[in-house]
Amino acid sequence: MPELLPRARNSSESIFSQMSRLALQYGAVNLGQGFPSDPPPAVLLDAARGALGRWDQYAPPAGLPILRDAIGADLGLDGADVVVTSGATEALNVLALSLYGPGDEVLMLEPVFDVYLPQARLSGATPVTVPMHLDDVAGWTLDMDALRAAVTPNTRALLLNSPFNPTGTVFSPVECAELVALARAHDLWIISDEVYDELYFGEQPTSFRTLAPERTFTVGSAGKRLEATGWRVGWIACPPGLAPMLSAIRQNGSFCAPTPFQVAVAAALPVARESGFYADLRAGYGERMGLLASGLRELGATVFLPSGTYFLTARHPQWTAEVLVKEAGVAVIPGAAFYAQHVAPEGLLRVAFCKSRSEIERALERLSLHAAHAPA
Ligand code: PMP
Repeated sequence: MPELLPRARNSSESIFSQMSRLALQYGAVNLGQGFPSDPPPAVLLDAARGALGRWDQYAPPAGLPILRDAIGADLGLDGADVVVTSGATEALNVLALSLYGPGDEVLMLEPVFDVYLPQARLSGATPVTVPMHLDDVAGWTLDMDALRAAVTPNTRALLLNSPFNPTGTVFSPVECAELVALARAHDLWIISDEVYDELYFGEQPTSFRTLAPERTFTVGSAGKRLEATGWRVGWIACPPGLAPMLSAIRQNGSFCAPTPFQVAVAAALPVARESGFYADLRAGYGERMGLLASGLRELGATVFLPSGTYFLTARHPQWTAEVLVKEAGVAVIPGAAFYAQHVAPEGLLRVAFCKSRSEIERALERLSLHAAHAPA
Protein backbone atom coordinates (compact mmCIF):
# COMPACT_ATOMS: atom_id res chain seq x y z
CA MET A 1 0.00 0.00 0.00
CA PRO A 2 2.36 2.72 -1.21
CA GLU A 3 -0.12 5.46 -0.22
CA LEU A 4 0.53 4.60 3.45
CA LEU A 5 4.30 4.86 3.01
CA PRO A 6 4.79 7.43 0.25
CA ARG A 7 8.53 7.72 0.89
CA ALA A 8 8.96 3.96 0.46
CA ARG A 9 8.67 4.64 -3.27
CA ASN A 10 12.21 5.97 -3.05
CA SER A 11 13.66 2.76 -1.72
CA SER A 12 13.61 -0.96 -2.41
CA GLU A 13 15.89 -3.92 -1.61
CA SER A 14 19.35 -2.97 -2.87
CA ILE A 15 20.79 -4.84 -5.84
CA PHE A 16 23.72 -5.88 -3.61
CA SER A 17 21.41 -7.57 -1.08
CA GLN A 18 19.39 -9.12 -3.92
CA MET A 19 22.47 -10.63 -5.56
CA SER A 20 23.86 -11.90 -2.24
CA ARG A 21 20.48 -13.55 -1.58
CA LEU A 22 20.48 -15.16 -5.05
CA ALA A 23 24.13 -16.24 -4.56
CA LEU A 24 23.07 -18.15 -1.43
CA GLN A 25 20.00 -19.57 -3.14
CA TYR A 26 21.95 -20.88 -6.16
CA GLY A 27 25.17 -21.78 -4.30
CA ALA A 28 27.02 -19.21 -6.42
CA VAL A 29 30.49 -17.77 -5.87
CA ASN A 30 29.71 -14.23 -4.75
CA LEU A 31 31.67 -11.70 -6.80
CA GLY A 32 28.74 -9.31 -6.41
CA GLN A 33 28.52 -7.44 -3.14
CA GLY A 34 31.69 -5.57 -2.12
CA PHE A 35 32.69 -7.21 1.13
CA PRO A 36 36.12 -8.80 1.51
CA SER A 37 36.70 -12.49 2.12
CA ASP A 38 39.84 -11.83 4.15
CA PRO A 39 39.49 -11.14 7.89
CA PRO A 40 40.26 -7.68 9.29
CA PRO A 41 43.85 -7.05 10.54
CA ALA A 42 44.76 -8.55 13.93
CA VAL A 43 45.36 -5.13 15.49
CA LEU A 44 41.73 -4.23 14.84
CA LEU A 45 40.34 -7.52 16.13
CA ASP A 46 42.52 -7.47 19.28
CA ALA A 47 41.56 -3.88 20.08
CA ALA A 48 37.85 -4.70 19.68
CA ARG A 49 38.16 -7.71 21.99
CA GLY A 50 39.88 -5.49 24.55
CA ALA A 51 37.15 -2.85 24.26
CA LEU A 52 34.23 -5.20 24.88
CA GLY A 53 33.22 -5.12 28.55
CA ARG A 54 34.95 -1.74 28.99
CA TRP A 55 33.53 0.54 26.32
CA ASP A 56 29.94 -0.62 26.14
CA GLN A 57 27.84 2.52 26.53
CA TYR A 58 26.90 5.44 24.30
CA ALA A 59 29.66 7.46 22.69
CA PRO A 60 29.16 11.19 21.98
CA PRO A 61 27.20 11.61 18.70
CA ALA A 62 30.22 13.24 17.02
CA GLY A 63 32.31 10.21 17.96
CA LEU A 64 34.82 9.28 20.66
CA PRO A 65 37.51 11.98 20.88
CA ILE A 66 40.25 9.32 20.47
CA LEU A 67 38.74 8.25 17.15
CA ARG A 68 38.06 11.78 15.89
CA ASP A 69 41.69 12.61 16.65
CA ALA A 70 42.96 9.42 14.97
CA ILE A 71 40.94 10.17 11.81
CA GLY A 72 42.06 13.81 11.91
CA ALA A 73 45.72 12.76 12.26
CA ASP A 74 45.36 10.30 9.37
CA LEU A 75 43.73 12.83 7.03
CA GLY A 76 45.69 15.87 8.18
CA LEU A 77 42.96 17.91 9.89
CA ASP A 78 41.79 18.74 13.39
CA GLY A 79 39.80 15.99 15.13
CA ALA A 80 37.22 18.67 16.03
CA ASP A 81 36.30 18.82 12.32
CA VAL A 82 35.48 15.09 12.15
CA VAL A 83 32.08 13.49 12.76
CA VAL A 84 32.03 9.71 13.24
CA THR A 85 29.06 7.92 11.67
CA SER A 86 27.61 4.41 11.39
CA GLY A 87 29.43 3.64 8.17
CA ALA A 88 29.85 5.86 5.13
CA THR A 89 26.21 5.14 4.27
CA GLU A 90 25.04 7.10 7.30
CA ALA A 91 27.64 9.78 6.62
CA LEU A 92 26.15 10.31 3.15
CA ASN A 93 22.64 10.36 4.59
CA VAL A 94 23.57 12.93 7.25
CA LEU A 95 25.01 15.12 4.48
CA ALA A 96 21.88 14.68 2.35
CA LEU A 97 19.70 15.72 5.30
CA SER A 98 21.99 18.61 6.23
CA LEU A 99 22.95 20.22 2.96
CA TYR A 100 19.88 20.23 0.75
CA GLY A 101 16.12 19.97 0.67
CA PRO A 102 13.04 20.61 -1.47
CA GLY A 103 13.79 22.70 -4.55
CA ASP A 104 17.49 21.89 -4.50
CA GLU A 105 19.34 19.83 -7.09
CA VAL A 106 22.28 17.56 -6.37
CA LEU A 107 24.61 16.86 -9.24
CA MET A 108 26.24 13.43 -9.51
CA LEU A 109 27.70 11.10 -12.11
CA GLU A 110 26.10 7.99 -13.54
CA PRO A 111 26.75 5.04 -13.02
CA VAL A 112 25.77 6.00 -9.51
CA PHE A 113 26.33 4.20 -6.19
CA ASP A 114 22.92 2.98 -5.13
CA VAL A 115 22.23 5.10 -2.02
CA TYR A 116 22.92 8.49 -3.62
CA LEU A 117 19.59 8.78 -5.45
CA PRO A 118 17.19 7.65 -2.68
CA GLN A 119 19.05 9.66 -0.05
CA ALA A 120 18.79 12.83 -2.12
CA ARG A 121 15.08 12.18 -2.74
CA LEU A 122 14.38 11.38 0.93
CA SER A 123 15.83 14.79 1.80
CA GLY A 124 13.32 16.31 -0.66
CA ALA A 125 15.97 17.31 -3.21
CA THR A 126 16.22 16.30 -6.86
CA PRO A 127 19.21 14.21 -7.95
CA VAL A 128 20.52 15.11 -11.41
CA THR A 129 22.95 12.70 -13.02
CA VAL A 130 25.43 13.17 -15.85
CA PRO A 131 26.64 9.98 -17.54
CA MET A 132 30.28 8.93 -17.65
CA HIS A 133 31.37 7.98 -21.15
CA LEU A 134 32.40 4.39 -21.86
CA ASP A 135 34.49 3.39 -24.83
CA ASP A 136 35.89 -0.11 -25.46
CA VAL A 137 39.37 1.34 -26.03
CA ALA A 138 39.54 4.46 -23.82
CA GLY A 139 37.46 2.98 -20.98
CA TRP A 140 35.51 5.31 -18.69
CA THR A 141 35.91 9.08 -19.12
CA LEU A 142 34.42 12.14 -17.45
CA ASP A 143 32.47 14.55 -19.66
CA MET A 144 33.31 17.84 -17.98
CA ASP A 145 31.29 19.90 -20.49
CA ALA A 146 28.16 17.83 -19.83
CA LEU A 147 28.66 18.32 -16.11
CA ARG A 148 29.06 22.09 -16.52
CA ALA A 149 25.92 22.19 -18.66
CA ALA A 150 23.91 20.36 -15.98
CA VAL A 151 24.42 23.06 -13.33
CA THR A 152 21.30 25.21 -12.75
CA PRO A 153 20.57 28.01 -10.26
CA ASN A 154 19.08 25.31 -8.00
CA THR A 155 22.20 23.14 -7.88
CA ARG A 156 23.39 22.97 -4.29
CA ALA A 157 26.04 20.23 -4.25
CA LEU A 158 28.35 18.11 -6.36
CA LEU A 159 28.47 14.51 -5.14
CA LEU A 160 31.67 12.83 -6.30
CA ASN A 161 33.28 9.45 -5.76
CA SER A 162 36.96 8.90 -6.50
CA PRO A 163 38.07 6.10 -6.62
CA PHE A 164 34.69 5.58 -8.26
CA ASN A 165 32.41 2.59 -7.64
CA PRO A 166 31.64 0.95 -10.06
CA THR A 167 33.82 2.43 -12.86
CA GLY A 168 37.11 2.29 -10.94
CA THR A 169 37.94 5.81 -12.16
CA VAL A 170 40.40 7.93 -10.19
CA PHE A 171 40.02 11.54 -11.30
CA SER A 172 43.30 13.04 -12.47
CA PRO A 173 44.68 16.12 -10.69
CA VAL A 174 43.58 18.20 -13.71
CA GLU A 175 40.03 16.82 -13.55
CA CYS A 176 39.93 17.44 -9.79
CA ALA A 177 41.00 21.05 -10.31
CA GLU A 178 38.26 21.48 -12.97
CA LEU A 179 35.64 19.97 -10.67
CA VAL A 180 36.67 22.28 -7.83
CA ALA A 181 36.60 25.28 -10.18
CA LEU A 182 33.05 24.32 -11.19
CA ALA A 183 32.00 24.07 -7.52
CA ARG A 184 33.59 27.43 -6.72
CA ALA A 185 32.05 29.16 -9.74
CA HIS A 186 28.53 28.12 -8.65
CA ASP A 187 29.11 28.08 -4.89
CA LEU A 188 28.38 24.35 -4.57
CA TRP A 189 29.20 22.06 -1.69
CA ILE A 190 31.45 19.16 -2.65
CA ILE A 191 30.49 15.85 -1.10
CA SER A 192 33.48 13.67 -1.79
CA ASP A 193 32.86 9.97 -1.18
CA GLU A 194 36.41 8.68 -0.67
CA VAL A 195 35.67 5.31 0.93
CA TYR A 196 38.21 3.66 -1.42
CA ASP A 197 40.92 6.26 -0.75
CA GLU A 198 43.51 3.58 0.10
CA LEU A 199 42.52 1.22 -2.71
CA TYR A 200 44.26 2.50 -5.83
CA PHE A 201 46.53 0.88 -8.40
CA GLY A 202 48.32 3.83 -9.95
CA GLU A 203 48.72 7.38 -8.76
CA GLN A 204 47.35 8.16 -5.31
CA PRO A 205 43.89 9.76 -5.65
CA THR A 206 43.62 13.49 -4.98
CA SER A 207 41.45 14.24 -1.96
CA PHE A 208 39.10 17.12 -2.80
CA ARG A 209 39.47 18.53 0.71
CA THR A 210 43.08 19.39 -0.02
CA LEU A 211 41.93 21.57 -2.95
CA ALA A 212 38.80 23.13 -1.43
CA PRO A 213 38.74 22.69 2.36
CA GLU A 214 36.15 25.44 2.75
CA ARG A 215 33.44 23.56 0.83
CA THR A 216 34.35 19.86 0.90
CA PHE A 217 32.86 17.16 3.09
CA THR A 218 34.97 14.02 2.81
CA VAL A 219 33.25 10.71 3.52
CA GLY A 220 35.37 7.78 4.71
CA SER A 221 34.79 4.20 5.82
CA ALA A 222 36.75 2.09 8.29
CA GLY A 223 34.82 -0.85 6.85
CA LYS A 224 36.49 -0.39 3.46
CA ARG A 225 39.93 0.55 4.74
CA LEU A 226 40.18 -2.14 7.41
CA GLU A 227 38.15 -4.93 5.80
CA ALA A 228 35.35 -4.82 8.37
CA THR A 229 32.26 -3.68 6.45
CA GLY A 230 29.92 -5.02 9.14
CA TRP A 231 31.35 -2.91 11.93
CA ARG A 232 29.66 0.24 10.69
CA VAL A 233 32.24 2.88 11.45
CA GLY A 234 32.57 5.73 8.98
CA TRP A 235 33.24 9.43 9.10
CA ILE A 236 32.77 12.89 7.65
CA ALA A 237 35.71 15.30 7.52
CA CYS A 238 34.01 18.71 7.52
CA PRO A 239 34.97 22.23 6.51
CA PRO A 240 36.28 24.02 9.63
CA GLY A 241 33.58 24.79 12.20
CA LEU A 242 30.72 22.76 10.66
CA ALA A 243 31.12 19.47 12.57
CA PRO A 244 28.87 20.49 15.53
CA MET A 245 25.93 21.19 13.20
CA LEU A 246 26.31 17.86 11.40
CA SER A 247 26.70 16.03 14.67
CA ALA A 248 23.46 17.59 15.95
CA ILE A 249 21.68 16.17 12.91
CA ARG A 250 23.36 12.74 13.01
CA GLN A 251 22.31 12.20 16.65
CA ASN A 252 18.72 11.82 15.36
CA GLY A 253 19.79 8.81 13.32
CA SER A 254 21.73 6.06 15.07
CA PHE A 255 22.81 8.54 17.82
CA CYS A 256 26.36 7.16 17.76
CA ALA A 257 28.43 4.54 15.98
CA PRO A 258 29.11 1.36 18.01
CA THR A 259 31.44 2.41 20.85
CA PRO A 260 33.74 -0.66 21.10
CA PHE A 261 34.35 -0.60 17.35
CA GLN A 262 35.19 3.10 17.52
CA VAL A 263 37.85 2.26 20.11
CA ALA A 264 39.24 -0.49 17.89
CA VAL A 265 39.34 1.70 14.76
CA ALA A 266 41.09 4.44 16.76
CA ALA A 267 43.79 1.93 17.72
CA ALA A 268 44.12 0.44 14.24
CA LEU A 269 44.26 3.56 12.04
CA PRO A 270 47.78 4.69 13.01
CA VAL A 271 49.09 1.11 12.98
CA ALA A 272 47.61 0.48 9.52
CA ARG A 273 49.34 3.61 8.23
CA GLU A 274 52.74 2.92 9.85
CA SER A 275 52.89 -0.82 9.20
CA GLY A 276 52.27 -0.60 5.46
CA PHE A 277 48.93 -2.42 5.76
CA TYR A 278 47.35 -0.34 2.97
CA ALA A 279 50.28 -0.95 0.61
CA ASP A 280 49.94 -4.70 1.26
CA LEU A 281 46.19 -4.45 0.64
CA ARG A 282 46.78 -2.75 -2.69
CA ALA A 283 49.42 -5.29 -3.72
CA GLY A 284 47.13 -8.22 -2.83
CA TYR A 285 44.11 -6.75 -4.60
CA GLY A 286 46.22 -5.72 -7.59
CA GLU A 287 47.21 -9.37 -8.06
CA ARG A 288 43.64 -10.61 -7.76
CA MET A 289 42.47 -7.94 -10.19
CA GLY A 290 45.03 -9.23 -12.71
CA LEU A 291 43.93 -12.83 -12.21
CA LEU A 292 40.26 -11.96 -12.66
CA ALA A 293 40.81 -9.63 -15.60
CA SER A 294 42.94 -12.07 -17.59
CA GLY A 295 40.51 -14.92 -16.86
CA LEU A 296 37.53 -12.86 -18.01
CA ARG A 297 39.37 -11.73 -21.14
CA GLU A 298 40.20 -15.34 -22.05
CA LEU A 299 36.47 -16.02 -21.89
CA GLY A 300 35.77 -13.25 -24.38
CA ALA A 301 34.88 -10.37 -22.07
CA THR A 302 35.96 -6.77 -22.62
CA VAL A 303 37.43 -5.69 -19.28
CA PHE A 304 37.81 -2.09 -18.10
CA LEU A 305 40.64 -2.17 -15.58
CA PRO A 306 40.03 0.10 -12.58
CA SER A 307 42.53 2.63 -11.24
CA GLY A 308 40.98 2.18 -7.79
CA THR A 309 38.29 0.35 -5.72
CA TYR A 310 38.06 -3.44 -5.60
CA PHE A 311 35.71 -3.79 -8.56
CA LEU A 312 36.19 -4.09 -12.27
CA THR A 313 33.61 -3.53 -14.97
CA ALA A 314 33.30 -5.79 -17.98
CA ARG A 315 31.08 -6.58 -20.93
CA HIS A 316 30.45 -9.90 -22.62
CA PRO A 317 28.01 -10.43 -25.48
CA GLN A 318 26.46 -13.55 -23.89
CA TRP A 319 26.45 -12.70 -20.19
CA THR A 320 23.82 -11.17 -17.95
CA ALA A 321 23.98 -11.12 -14.16
CA GLU A 322 20.78 -13.17 -13.98
CA VAL A 323 22.04 -15.92 -16.27
CA LEU A 324 25.42 -16.03 -14.53
CA VAL A 325 24.02 -16.46 -11.03
CA LYS A 326 21.38 -19.02 -12.02
CA GLU A 327 23.21 -21.01 -14.70
CA ALA A 328 26.95 -20.48 -14.17
CA GLY A 329 26.90 -20.23 -10.35
CA VAL A 330 28.68 -16.86 -10.24
CA ALA A 331 27.08 -13.73 -8.75
CA VAL A 332 28.01 -10.33 -10.20
CA ILE A 333 26.16 -7.00 -10.26
CA PRO A 334 24.32 -5.90 -13.42
CA GLY A 335 25.64 -2.55 -14.61
CA ALA A 336 22.06 -1.38 -15.21
CA ALA A 337 21.57 -1.30 -11.42
CA PHE A 338 23.84 1.78 -11.32
CA TYR A 339 21.70 3.67 -13.85
CA ALA A 340 18.42 5.49 -13.24
CA GLN A 341 18.35 8.52 -15.52
CA HIS A 342 20.44 7.32 -18.48
CA VAL A 343 20.75 4.05 -20.38
CA ALA A 344 23.42 1.66 -19.10
CA PRO A 345 26.07 0.49 -21.58
CA GLU A 346 24.88 -2.76 -23.14
CA GLY A 347 25.87 -5.88 -21.19
CA LEU A 348 27.77 -4.00 -18.48
CA LEU A 349 28.65 -6.01 -15.34
CA ARG A 350 30.48 -5.10 -12.12
CA VAL A 351 32.68 -7.87 -10.74
CA ALA A 352 34.28 -7.70 -7.26
CA PHE A 353 37.82 -8.93 -6.64
CA CYS A 354 37.89 -8.33 -2.85
CA LYS A 355 37.49 -12.10 -2.63
CA SER A 356 40.01 -14.88 -2.02
CA ARG A 357 42.17 -16.17 -4.88
CA SER A 358 40.40 -19.54 -4.60
CA GLU A 359 36.96 -17.93 -4.97
CA ILE A 360 38.12 -16.00 -8.03
CA GLU A 361 39.64 -19.17 -9.53
CA ARG A 362 36.45 -21.12 -8.80
CA ALA A 363 34.34 -18.40 -10.41
CA LEU A 364 36.53 -18.45 -13.53
CA GLU A 365 36.32 -22.26 -13.75
CA ARG A 366 32.54 -22.07 -13.51
CA LEU A 367 32.34 -19.35 -16.16
CA SER A 368 34.56 -21.42 -18.42
CA LEU A 369 32.36 -24.53 -17.92
CA HIS A 370 29.29 -22.43 -18.60
CA ALA A 371 30.87 -21.08 -21.80
CA ALA A 372 31.68 -24.65 -22.92
CA HIS A 373 28.01 -25.66 -22.52
CA ALA A 374 26.46 -22.47 -23.87
CA PRO A 375 24.88 -22.76 -27.34
CA ALA A 376 27.27 -21.44 -29.98
N1 PMP B 1 30.19 4.75 -0.96
C1 PMP B 1 30.58 3.86 -1.87
C2 PMP B 1 31.04 4.35 -3.19
C3 PMP B 1 30.55 2.49 -1.60
O1 PMP B 1 30.93 1.62 -2.53
C4 PMP B 1 30.10 2.06 -0.32
C5 PMP B 1 30.02 0.60 0.05
N2 PMP B 1 29.88 -0.30 -0.96
C6 PMP B 1 29.71 3.02 0.60
C7 PMP B 1 29.76 4.36 0.26
C8 PMP B 1 29.18 2.64 1.95
O2 PMP B 1 30.20 2.33 2.84
P1 PMP B 1 29.89 1.79 4.32
O3 PMP B 1 29.90 0.30 4.25
O4 PMP B 1 30.98 2.33 5.18
O5 PMP B 1 28.55 2.31 4.72
